[in-house]
Amino acid sequence: MTAFVAFTHPREAPSLLERPVPVPAPGELLIRVEACGLGAADFGFFQLDALPRTPLIPGFEAVGIVEGVGGGVAIPLGARVGLTPLASTCGGCSLCERGLERWCPKAQLHAWHRDGFLARHVVTTERSVVRLDAADEPSSWAPLFATGWTAFGAVRATELGRGHRLGVIGVGGLGQLVVQVARAQGLEVTAWDVDPERRSLAGDSASAQTFAADSVDALIVCTPSTQAIQQAVRAVRRGGALVLAAASPSVRFDLSLFDTVMRGVTLKPAFLGARSELDELISLVRTGAVKPVVTTITLEDVRSKFWLLRDGGFPGRLVVT
Ligand SMILES: [Zn+2]
Repeated sequence: MTAFVAFTHPREAPSLLERPVPVPAPGELLIRVEACGLGAADFGFFQLDALPRTPLIPGFEAVGIVEGVGGGVAIPLGARVGLTPLASTCGGCSLCERGLERWCPKAQLHAWHRDGFLARHVVTTERSVVRLDAADEPSSWAPLFATGWTAFGAVRATELGRGHRLGVIGVGGLGQLVVQVARAQGLEVTAWDVDPERRSLAGDSASAQTFAADSVDALIVCTPSTQAIQQAVRAVRRGGALVLAAASPSVRFDLSLFDTVMRGVTLKPAFLGARSELDELISLVRTGAVKPVVTTITLEDVRSKFWLLRDGGFPGRLVVT
């Protein structure tokens, strides 16, 4: 038997449960999870009136060791891998053909359509994994495979270049990585968060002031907040991009249609990125320019400290080891 954490009832804290070790089918791998990132998207399941599946195992990103393989898998036993949420896509639709397979209507995502990674053992597809080096430290690498990938994709979506001014709202697990990626690419970054401790994760880029009107060339919203989006659209200069990188099923926003259209502000979503962008991110991490700040907890903590964890108040990305 092997332990996992799952939501079993809407609006109740998750439970620590056990199940038989899952068996990989052809094209799949059995992974012993060493570290699993946990964030707003996982806690967001708690806010749903109906769970998409029960039990629902959250966890969109992880690092682990290959302990079993189904037929046709080329990755050897004992290899360390990173796990992305993208288990499979159709491969044939126009989104898949344009490298936008993360929005494929048939995409199968871990945590949402399949079991997530908040477990001692998980089964995933060869498609979802990235081969790592044996020396790569699991807890600092785990936040890269959904949060870091989204951060990279969000910076790319701004279409800004060296010297351009980027604003970032929200310096939690996601925002800290947006700041690091953007600085590594030569952007002039200003980051704001309501919480001074989180703000300090942005280092020299942190600002204690909210953004003035027309003050940045593009802005990335890294917190699922209506007020943040409304502040952001005013802060972006005419013709700039407002990138929405944090999603939540319970947040809505309304903007002035006239202001948005007449100021030429482009709204863009960021969710993961192209596969080539994940490779670029990993190269950047190997240079030392990007290193997630993490707070590590145990699988048991997720159940016993759920209410505390849900309210935040810890630095960086939560990682379960
Ligand atoms: Zn597709």
